[in-house]
Amino acid sequence: MTVKNEKSDDGKRDVGDAGKEATAANNSINDDLWGSDMYPERRGAKSNYGWFKWLIGAAGRESIDKAKCEDNVYRCIKDSPIVKLMVGALKSSGCEIDIRRHISCEVCAPSVTGGYDSQLNQVVICQNMAHSTNIVRGVLLHEMIHMFDYCRNKLDLKNIDHLACTEIRAANIGHCSFISSMLQGDSSFINIKATHQNCVKRKAKMSIMAVHNVSEEIAEAAIERVFTKCYNDLEPVGRRIRRNSDDMPRAYAEAHLYGYDS
Ligand SMILES: [Zn+2]
Repeated sequence: MTVKNEKSDDGKRDVGDAGKEATAANNSINDDLWGSDMYPERRGAKSNYGWFKWLIGAAGRESIDKAKCEDNVYRCIKDSPIVKLMVGALKSSGCEIDIRRHISCEVCAPSVTGGYDSQLNQVVICQNMAHSTNIVRGVLLHEMIHMFDYCRNKLDLKNIDHLACTEIRAANIGHCSFISSMLQGDSSFINIKATHQNCVKRKAKMSIMAVHNVSEEIAEAAIERVFTKCYNDLEPVGRRIRRNSDDMPRAYAEAHLYGYDS
């Protein structure tokens, strides 16, 4: 899942029961697999205060947000090299995307900008949080890496090591190399490697903790167990996307070398 802002998660989560459960069950997560509280429109739990929303104008706002979000998704699928690369890679792996079926713009909790629902094989873009094309592109890339991992590896997202691995990959290929380096200056020219690895670890930890109520320690331990292997696995992009570089078009141009449709 894509967490909105690293700093917003500083508040300690309540890790009581869920954390213990995860330890007791040998690294498997038993809580709600899909963070239903964060994605209220999933699983038919449509909000039940419709009239109130009409009164305050929120319903109008929602349909505007949705149209804008869908427009941004469409633009990214059409124009963004990295998103097109992911679409091609998914297709080559036997998991072709139909944007109406597999991508959904919805209202989410304000702490997240997107998510991947493995049970329905759908990417969720949070229309109330992801307002710009750039953010939507970042969310699409991140969640499509989860989708790719789910397609390629038959991910078991109840297994915290699997979850950690796909979050490491998503942060590595997407956010840490690209979005955060632009927005937050995570990648300075000095010490770029350590900075980058720390960004990946922090981002992956936030994502694990945001949906699954596991403690920081459990999330960190899972990340450390799989870090080297998953950090070095750059499929299907083949290279990290760096700021101010032509990596993005280049990764796309080289997709055929990896055997993916472009
Ligand atoms: Zn994620």
